[in-house]
Amino acid sequence: MNPDYRPIIPANPSFRDDGTLYSAQFDDVYASSHGGLEQARHVFLSGNGLPERWQSQASFVIVETGFGAGLNFLATWRLWKKTAPADVRLHFISVEKHPFGVADLQRIHVAIPEILPLARELHESWPVPLPGFHRLHFEGGRVTLTLLFGDAAVMLKQLNAAADAFFLDGFAPARNQAMWTEPVFHEIARVAKPGATLATYSVAVSVREGLSAAGFTVEKRQGFAGKREMLAGRYAGGATAIAASEDKRAIVIGAGLAGSTCAQRLTGRGWAVQVIEAHRAPAQEASGNPAGLIRPVISLDWNSHSRFTTAGFLYTLRHHAALRSGGNAMTTGEGGVLQIARDATRFEKQQRIVEEFSLPQDLLRTLDAGDASMLAGAPVAGPGWWFPQAAWADPASMCIANLAAGGAALTASYGVAAMEIKRSQDEWQVIDAGGLVIACAPVLVLANAHAATSFAPAQWLPLQPVRGQVSLVPEREGRPLRIAVCREGYVTPSIGGMHCLGASFNEGMSDTSERTEDHEGNLQRLEKMLPGFASGLGAGGLRGRVAFRAVAPDRLPVVGGLGQPGLFACLGLGSRGMTWSGLAAELVASQINGDPLPLERNLVAALAPQRFRKPSANQV
Ligand code: SAM
Repeated sequence: MNPDYRPIIPANPSFRDDGTLYSAQFDDVYASSHGGLEQARHVFLSGNGLPERWQSQASFVIVETGFGAGLNFLATWRLWKKTAPADVRLHFISVEKHPFGVADLQRIHVAIPEILPLARELHESWPVPLPGFHRLHFEGGRVTLTLLFGDAAVMLKQLNAAADAFFLDGFAPARNQAMWTEPVFHEIARVAKPGATLATYSVAVSVREGLSAAGFTVEKRQGFAGKREMLAGRYAGGATAIAASEDKRAIVIGAGLAGSTCAQRLTGRGWAVQVIEAHRAPAQEASGNPAGLIRPVISLDWNSHSRFTTAGFLYTLRHHAALRSGGNAMTTGEGGVLQIARDATRFEKQQRIVEEFSLPQDLLRTLDAGDASMLAGAPVAGPGWWFPQAAWADPASMCIANLAAGGAALTASYGVAAMEIKRSQDEWQVIDAGGLVIACAPVLVLANAHAATSFAPAQWLPLQPVRGQVSLVPEREGRPLRIAVCREGYVTPSIGGMHCLGASFNEGMSDTSERTEDHEGNLQRLEKMLPGFASGLGAGGLRGRVAFRAVAPDRLPVVGGLGQPGLFACLGLGSRGMTWSGLAAELVASQINGDPLPLERNLVAALAPQRFRKPSANQV
């Protein structure tokens, strides 16, 4: 097991006789017995000059240590709702080592009517207790909560943000030393904007000295209720502020999953986006397959691929919920996805992962072959994992929903081929085959898979087109497959009378026509998942679809800046576009808009196009 994977141990709440929320582990209360919301207002909000300070900024970024029951967050959101101008966005980032389960949060919040309506929204998107970053959006994207599940010192090191204010709210330093250490203060200073403020209820000498040493000037103020004093501070040092373009116009090349999702994440931030697509409609290449799976990948070594895929999966679930609540329907299937183990050794490994990672049942469960068959509605080849929230989906419906959600801020030009891109006078120009400039904007996102490498500024990206062929298998009488099943390939339930079966992986092959041997391969993979399911069916009579996915040598996506001002990539989504596109697009949009990033710094680096830059080329 990867030593960096530290399972999350959820909090176990208890209440003192006066009803105050209490932690037996730390022998301390979560908030003042005189009222958590009142304490939030006095210490953390007023202590940071709120609500006055967010009147004049396009976005206000708060970093908190200790999310606990989220009272500070909910009080902040509530105040923001009442006082912030319509165009001001709130980013609240909070690190928490022992998050509550959702049932406990519900129990705690139901007793606080003032915040209950907002708390209910929080409960709906509350993440499973997996270590890492979890990004949640509220208020149509105007309020963003980024939860960092894990130890403060470890997780804050992974944060990329420029913070306006800090809420330091660990348990009392004497009981919870880890929250008030030099490394924690150092990370706080690292992400502080010049002039950033902080507030905390603690005036312990070690806290004052630690904060001063990290570059904050601190002063005592009148404390809350029973407390004589509290601390307020201001960052005296400078910082590398994250620069964002004032001119919020962007071009996105490509209207598949990558492009449509990037466009949606940008319009959600107030950008005007022009999508340019060579085909006459969206989702005509790999995103035009009839169906695919949205599911996590979990490996014992918890490598970058598993981390990003699992985080992407959880983000996609929330992204889809938001699209749907905005009236943008998609074609997706419920019931989860079964992942059949390849053999007994692999199944043992699956079981070990569940135990050692303390993975929540909401995310996955191991099932024996009998239970798996019952669930699937057809006999499966063996035991495996069941991801209850995973789904099959029609990728084109996801693209269309993203594009529609962009509303008037998103314009799309179809049947327009971009032949060249050029930086001229602080703008990117997109030029067609006739040499005409068809679009210009300060920001350009390449989301056109391997075709991006035909543009000179992206020629160095080692993206390969990999051919994939899916097969369509007619519904089988008496075999009503209810949920999607995967192993080395995948099969969906019947969609309009056909099961979608995927997919071949033909590296270095450019043949665009359907090949019988690939249908044969898909049927063989099906047989290893659902023995006998397709008996009597020959490959010869099958129909399917061929598409090319763009794949990087390390099989990770290529997401981030391309090393030239305003030029970004959302490429290399391979066969995981449906699971990856939401979080990949959120990363690109955050980078473009100068927002806190939704992923750990080491994952951002693992996905960055710059990983393929030769050291010498770096200087260019
Ligand atoms: N701000 C919270 C609220 O508004 O409800 C209350 C926070 S409570 C005083 C302190 C929190 O810090 C607890 O939820 C606790 O689990 C968390 N915590 C303790 N040690 C931690 C650590 N080393 N890293 C991250 N979180 C930690």
